[in-house]
Amino acid sequence: MKFCSLYSGSSGNSIFIGNEHGKILVDAGLSGKYIEKALIDIEENPRDIAGIFITHEHTDHIKGVGVLSRKYNIPIFANELTWGKLESSLGKLKDENKVIIDKQKEIKDLLITRFDTPHDAVASSGFTVQSGNKKVAIVTDIGHFSSEIKNTIKDSDIVLIESNHDVEMVKFGPYPYMLKKRILSNVGHLSNDDCGRAILDIMDHKQKHIILGHLSNNNNYPDLAYETVKNILIDENVDVNKDIFLTLAKRDMPSNYIDI
Ligand SMILES: [Zn+2]
Ligand SMILES: [Zn+2]
Repeated sequence: MKFCSLYSGSSGNSIFIGNEHGKILVDAGLSGKYIEKALIDIEENPRDIAGIFITHEHTDHIKGVGVLSRKYNIPIFANELTWGKLESSLGKLKDENKVIIDKQKEIKDLLITRFDTPHDAVASSGFTVQSGNKKVAIVTDIGHFSSEIKNTIKDSDIVLIESNHDVEMVKFGPYPYMLKKRILSNVGHLSNDDCGRAILDIMDHKQKHIILGHLSNNNNYPDLAYETVKNILIDENVDVNKDIFLTLAKRDMPSNYIDI
């Protein structure tokens, strides 16, 4: 199974997952052109994408979805409540490309499982994708790391998890009070510290690729996110080059192309 973060951050998110049989995207939150370019950069043909799975209706996750669906006739998968919010933002779509995902879908030999995430969208989701005995998990836009999420993702080989902000940078930064409150709430975004603790929670005997993603452009720095999480792990005797592989997803180009 191949995994690649095409783009990750508050400015737009899209993740490619696939194998020789089936290929999907989770979110397409930049323009269609940007997503096409990223796919071509990793030598994938946009025509081969068999589905776009939507985590939630915020623009940084859906911006290119309508364009890509129309141009390449790609089905879009979202839960029913999210569809209620998507209809007006995605433009005209073929009825057959509007697919409701409740819990699970199979695309070729990929098994995609949806789970609830705590975020201020109507019904936001995370996804795991399984093929054979390999499993990938996408967990971004979460206000806190719930036990449901933990149980769903803990046996994954690859986890892309949100390391959105540094709490002090949010508190003392320029955002208006209400926005700060939203980001720091239980249904906002996961801080670097909480991300580190979440990773500790899913440590087991299985060696994992852990990718830090969805970094805020205003309230974080890549080095700060990485060092904060790394230090939390090292303090608990985790070897970040052996027990897990810890990396960062890039904001504006494909990164973490992993073949497992
Ligand atoms: Zn969001
Ligand atoms: Zn987001």
